Amino acid sequence: MKYQRSSQLFKAANAVIPGGVNSPVRAFKAVGGTPIFVNKAQGPYLYDEDGNRLIDYINSWGPMILGHAFPPVVDAVVNKAKKGTSFGMPTEIETKIAELAVSMVPNIDKIRFVNSGTEACMSAVRLARGYSGKEKIIKFAGCYHGHSDSFLIQAGSGAVTFGSPNSPGVTQGTAKDTILAPYNNLNAVQQIFEANNNNIAAIIVEPVAGNMGCIPPKEGFLEGLRVLCDAHNALLIFDEVMTGFRLAKGGVQELMGIKADIVCFGKVIGGGLPVGAFAAKQNIMSHLAPEGPVYQAGTLSGNPLAMAAGYALLNALNNDSGVYQRLTQKTAYLHDGISKALKAQNINHTINRVGSMISVHFSERDVVDFDSATDGNNNRFRQFFHGMLDAGVYIAPSAFESWFVTDALSYDDLDFTIAAVKSVAKAL
Ligand SMILES: *Cc1c(COP(=O)(O)O)cnc(C)c1O
Repeated sequence: MKYQRSSQLFKAANAVIPGGVNSPVRAFKAVGGTPIFVNKAQGPYLYDEDGNRLIDYINSWGPMILGHAFPPVVDAVVNKAKKGTSFGMPTEIETKIAELAVSMVPNIDKIRFVNSGTEACMSAVRLARGYSGKEKIIKFAGCYHGHSDSFLIQAGSGAVTFGSPNSPGVTQGTAKDTILAPYNNLNAVQQIFEANNNNIAAIIVEPVAGNMGCIPPKEGFLEGLRVLCDAHNALLIFDEVMTGFRLAKGGVQELMGIKADIVCFGKVIGGGLPVGAFAAKQNIMSHLAPEGPVYQAGTLSGNPLAMAAGYALLNALNNDSGVYQRLTQKTAYLHDGISKALKAQNINHTINRVGSMISVHFSERDVVDFDSATDGNNNRFRQFFHGMLDAGVYIAPSAFESWFVTDALSYDDLDFTIAAVKSVAKAL
């Protein structure tokens, strides 16, 4: 059996970890079968506990943008670890990565480091509320901002006026302050502003959505959000946990030329260690403790190993003027190859792509929001996923996730992947 050891390890994990995993998507519930346990990874490849080699299109959900075990990151972590792993006191590396991030991203003066994307988004919303003195936020259905209570909300029956919890444990009291709108729908956002008499603190949005597959903003959508926020004195929060340092040095703000008021980071900024961050202009950041009254803290925030890893990766990206173009070209090549392979078998599909984020939807409809994303043929995705896995290619174990292309992939790897799609498509 190909995954014998993974199966055994999963069984052992299940006895002591809920569902056998520390984050739900890893459990393969959406695609069925046994999750694969990783032994090690190098460049574009994963090596699992059964000795199989897989080409990796998840890359730790983004951070491994230059490949696994990227030597500058590994060296930075090893060297730091020898000097002690945490102090709960300031270190110079925190300032160095902050200076670098502020120099790469437009429109921010200061940045606060935390330990995850969840913390970054949660803290950004608190800051927006503290700054504006208002309570409600607008979020978009299908956008993910981590697992903090304010974001685990679905559209309620009176969608324009309040949301309802979509996980047990989230209270109605919390849900009433998050209002849901469909992605790419400016009219809905305008109606929400009109119905909530000046009590919207902020809009939080994935400026290129990546958590319902990859969904680009429609022409004018982000500009429209900017205009509405300005008209109603609300802050625009770009959740660039996925897109930051991935789609461009300066993320979507740079790529699409739209200014956000607060920007959230995670994933790439930590180089594969647990890091998140949020950033803004000084007039907003000055409200944050200890400078201002909005409380936010963390025992391990700015941890030296994590800062060293993030600094090494950001530095490599900053010093490589061709990296984003190469990533885009590789992803476009993949897009073209996959599309031809599926067309040759008359398989209905839509491929969405922005830079090095790409997703394949088994649907002929344009995928522009959560409803159209969930409209795809899930059974077919399941077959596709397992076919690719058998062929040695690891894609996201859910139809509602983006794939992340790494610059470590060679064109031979891409050709190998496209050949796998060709053979899998014949059996779909
Ligand atoms: C991954 C992600 C988060 C959550 O980050 P964690 O580090 O998993 O807490 C938040 N927002 C977006 C857009 C993400 O992709």
